[in-house]
Parts: sequence; structure tokens; C-alpha cells
Amino acid sequence: MSSSNRKAASAAATRTDQQCEECARLHAERRRAAVHLDWSQVTDCVVLLRRHAELCPRPTGGEA
Ligand SMILES: [Zn+2]
Repeated sequence: MSSSNRKAASAAATRTDQQCEECARLHAERRRAAVHLDWSQVTDCVVLLRRHAELCPRPTGGEA
């Protein structure tokens, strides 16, 4: 009975591991740029993310 709960928890824990390295890097860079209020850098990252999404083996979806 409780095994299904454990399975769901481990699936949630591994979800971030399925994000491709490039996506993770660009998301982190965009977040850092936003913290520094560097909006041109944020825009750059959004463009790169959008371009990369076409090639990405593991699209994250949603966040754009
Ligand atoms: Zn990717």
C-alpha cells in the first residue's frame, strides 16, 4: 500500500535530473540575470532557451 507513495516520491525527486544540462544552465543563467536586473541578459537567455528547445532531447516545456 505505502509502496505506491514511495514510488511517486522518487519520481518527483528524479524529475530535475531529466532536464538536459543546457536547459538547466540557461534557466540558471536567466534566473541569475533577473536577480541582477540585467534584462538584456534575461532576454538573451529566453532567446537561447527558445532556440535550444527545438533541439533539446528533453524539453522542459511550460516555462517560456
Ligand atoms: Zn535542453
